[in-house]
Amino acid sequence: AHLDRATAVDEAVRAYLHVDAEGALAAADEVDRRRAAGEPLHALAGVPVAVKDVVVTRGLPTTAGSRILQGWVPPYDATIVTRLRAAGMPILGKTNMDEFAMGSSTEHSAYGPTHNPWDLDRIPGGSGGGSAAAVASFQAPLAIGTDTGGSIRQPASVTGTVGTKPTYGGVSRYGLIAMASSLDQAGPCTRTVLDAALLHEVIAGHDPMDSTSIDAPVPPVVQAARRADVSGMRIGIVRELTGEGYQPGVQRRFDEAVQHLIDAGAEVVEVSCPSFTHALAAYYLVMPSEVSSNLAKFDAMRYGLRVLPEGIDDPSAEQVMAATRAAGFGDEVKRRIILGTYALSSGYYDAYYGSAQKVRRLIADDFAAAFERADVLVSPTSPTTAFPLGAKLADPLSMYMQDIATIPANLAGVPGLSLPSGLADEDGLPAGFQILAPATRDERLYAVGAALE
Ligand code: GLN
Repeated sequence: AHLDRATAVDEAVRAYLHVDAEGALAAADEVDRRRAAGEPLHALAGVPVAVKDVVVTRGLPTTAGSRILQGWVPPYDATIVTRLRAAGMPILGKTNMDEFAMGSSTEHSAYGPTHNPWDLDRIPGGSGGGSAAAVASFQAPLAIGTDTGGSIRQPASVTGTVGTKPTYGGVSRYGLIAMASSLDQAGPCTRTVLDAALLHEVIAGHDPMDSTSIDAPVPPVVQAARRADVSGMRIGIVRELTGEGYQPGVQRRFDEAVQHLIDAGAEVVEVSCPSFTHALAAYYLVMPSEVSSNLAKFDAMRYGLRVLPEGIDDPSAEQVMAATRAAGFGDEVKRRIILGTYALSSGYYDAYYGSAQKVRRLIADDFAAAFERADVLVSPTSPTTAFPLGAKLADPLSMYMQDIATIPANLAGVPGLSLPSGLADEDGLPAGFQILAPATRDERLYAVGAALE
């Protein structure tokens, strides 16, 4: 049914870069065979899933939305893909995304933008707009995203879906094409909070292949989602992440959701996290610094595209690399490599990267202080609803502002979830409600999220 739906609507939505009908149907048949043989099956066996194209999949093209990886077919599976397959979940295909996960609109994909199913002239968020749009347009019941600064939560917010960025280290990064390794985290994109918890549980857990993987039991996310109990819970409203700069309709839906939590027995306090006002600036130094290092491996020798420079008879490896990178990377990727290389260069390192790391510490301290007073923190996920395609392309800074409320969680490694809070009055488009919890306490996201559904 999902493959039929993709055939019917994806020409307009463009959520998928690659659909693997044959592989998905074979995986579904295998589940049927095991069921008939009376073998024990996972609760999600047979439930298909779409995977963001930044996650490597054995035998399936993986481009990370970039021309430089066009035609690359990975020889191995990411750990999370191994876990999806082990649970018997057919992989429907790979979803569109901003190139190397850099963006908030999926317009920086080398393969053209994805369209928001609510209004095809609007953006589906980014970088994981493909996964969110696939779920929102019923082309997949579940999808995998990755979130470095908001790329699961902001697309969820603007497409009326649910998305979780787990605690850093909670889900293996082995086999994710790294954007910024100290910030990246994969997580679920779904239509309900319970679905997100179920998928979270499948992909989470210790992995010796990821040196930052947490060696501890997976938080009881499914149990929390089923109980949906917030009585006695302290909910902290982050003063710096509400009010001015937030679209009135988004703010109004947020206020109503908070009232709903009070009615359900939660206690609400206001907390202040003054360093959050510097989160965006710190992120745009830490992230590009890591990007400039991580993307050095695309050297025209090891993967994908190779472009020979014009007019040179016997080009050196360096000339081939320069020609390939010039043709293979898009403008946003180049912008960030240049920013990162500059921030890390000798003489500037302390002033830029060093200062950003100190701000990062202050943000973690702000979280720690806030979580003394509150069990979870809440805010609107994104300051606005989905904007029209093209509206922010000429102004990178206004694009970056989309993640003002989501970035602090990545910098501190804490988990966050976005769920729909309703439709904004001005434009009738979905608004998102963000919940943040202390590191390793991901179950609290689901307790609060499920109470709001
Ligand atoms: N929009 C943010 C950026 O462009 C976040 C991206 C992400 O989370 N992958 O960096």
